[in-house]
Amino acid sequence: MRFQNLQRLLKQESGVQLANTMVEEAHSYGLRTFHFKPAEERVPLLKRCTCGQAMKLILRTVIHARKVSITNVPVYTCEQCFRNEVFPGVKEDLGRLIGELGAKPLPRSIPFDEIHEWAGVLKEALDQTQPLQLWTIARKTEERMNDLLDLMLVAASVGDETWKKELKSRLSQLSAQYIT
Ligand SMILES: [Zn+2]
Repeated sequence: MRFQNLQRLLKQESGVQLANTMVEEAHSYGLRTFHFKPAEERVPLLKRCTCGQAMKLILRTVIHARKVSITNVPVYTCEQCFRNEVFPGVKEDLGRLIGELGAKPLPRSIPFDEIHEWAGVLKEALDQTQPLQLWTIARKTEERMNDLLDLMLVAASVGDETWKKELKSRLSQLSAQYIT
């Protein structure tokens, strides 16, 4: 089963049916057990800042150890008090990346959108509409999931376990934004 109906489902059923479909899909690939996230926790584009203003979800460059620029990291930012908060859905992977770089990295630039599928989808959505729109994000998520599922079929047919593992982890980066 693919995600052809994702846009309609997101619109009409607040993503519950979509989440069901993703759970079935995820199970068929042996991914971990999922539980639905409440609707208000799915892809929130705004978040309340401690100063009371609304924080916007954007992509920005994170500098690590003054040497490494990690570009296109999803963060919430407040235009009032300039507070930034890394999007919870990518925090773990960003932390892992920074851990791998260590305290004394060589100067370089790392596009986070190539490492994390969710950052990749947001980047594509932003290239199309500014500011971010849920509708565009949903469409880009659907396209990317279909691509990954097609690759999964190829990987399965050639019996490449390493590739399958990589694709599974990329699929969970996307589905984790809708289900937990
Ligand atoms: Zn603020």
